[in-house]
Amino acid sequence: MLPETTPVRGRFAPTPSGRLHLGNAATALLAWLQIRAGGGTMALRMEDLDKPRCRPESAAAIAEELRWLGLDWDEGPDIGGPFGPYAQSERLDRYARALDDLGRQGLLYPCYCSRADLLSAPSAPHGLASEGPAYAGACRRLTAAEREARAAVKTPSLRFALPADRSFPFEDGIAGPVRYPPGAGGDFVVKRADGIVGYQLAVVADDIAMGVTDVLRGWDLLDSTPRQLALYEAFGAMPPRFAHAPLLLGPDGGRLSKRHGSVTLSGLRELGVGSRRLVGYLAWLTGLTDRPEPASPGELVAGFDFARIAHESVRLPDDWVSALTAART
Ligand code: GLU
Repeated sequence: MLPETTPVRGRFAPTPSGRLHLGNAATALLAWLQIRAGGGTMALRMEDLDKPRCRPESAAAIAEELRWLGLDWDEGPDIGGPFGPYAQSERLDRYARALDDLGRQGLLYPCYCSRADLLSAPSAPHGLASEGPAYAGACRRLTAAEREARAAVKTPSLRFALPADRSFPFEDGIAGPVRYPPGAGGDFVVKRADGIVGYQLAVVADDIAMGVTDVLRGWDLLDSTPRQLALYEAFGAMPPRFAHAPLLLGPDGGRLSKRHGSVTLSGLRELGVGSRRLVGYLAWLTGLTDRPEPASPGELVAGFDFARIAHESVRLPDDWVSALTAART
C-alpha cells in the first residue's frame, strides 16, 4: 500500500487515434477531479505507440478538447515537466530497458503464433474482455530446438509469463474489491512482432517512472489491472491506487458510437453545446451530482466522492441530445 502521505499524482493517458467522445470526457473529468480534490499533480501523457493508428493532429485536438472542458495539467507534451518526455513514442529507450529487465529475470518468452494460430488454438478461459480468450501458452512450452527452428523463419512477439497459480487482487476506488482467477488474461504480449511495445508494458513503465500514485481510467481496463500488478511486482515497484470509471453506453445499452448521434466533443461543440453544460451533465450522469446543472470542473472539486460514482456502466437517457442542446429557460 502507498503511504497516505505520498503526494498525489495522476495522469490523463489518451491514445491519439481519434477524437474524444463523451465517455472519454467523463473519465478525464473524474480523473482530474480526483487529483485536484487531493491537491495533487496531473500529467498528460500521449499514448501514441501504435504509430500507424495515431495521428499528431489527434493529439493536438485531444489536448485542446480537454482544455475546452476546463481541465488542465501540470506536466505534459506541450509544457514539459520533470518526468518527460510525455509522449510514449519518445520513450522507446525506456521500454527497451524495461524489457531487458524482465528478460534477464526469465519472465519473457518469444511467441511465434500467427493470428490464425491464436484463433484456432484451444483457448484457456478467462481472457480479457478487450482481447477475447486468454493465450493458452503454446510457445511457453517450446523446447530450445523448436524455438530455434521457428526463429529461422519468423520474427516472434515477446510475451510476459504471467504467474499461472496466483491471482492479483486489488481494491478499486470505484469497483471495490476485485479478484480475477489465477492466470486471468493469460500470458500477454509486451512487444509485438513488428516491434511495437505492448500497452501493458508501456503504461506500467511510464506510471512507475512518472511517480503516478492514482490511476483513474475507463472500466474497459479493469481486467488489465491484474496484468499490470504482475508487472509492478516484476519491476519491484509499488503499484498505484486504481479506480475504474463507468462506461457510458447509448440509450439502447450499446457501446457509444456514431449511430447514437454526436457523441464526440467536436460534434457536440458544433451543435452549440457549451463546456459547462457538458461538464455538469457528465457529473450528473456518473453519479457525482443530483442534477445536471451546468458547472465548471473547478466547481465540482469539493463534491468529489468515490462513493457516489456509478459502477460499471451508465446509459445515456433517451433525451440526452435535447438535454444538452435545449435553450435554457
Ligand atoms: N491509453 C489508454 C486508452 O486510451 C489508457 C491507458 C490507461 O489509462 O491506463 O485507453
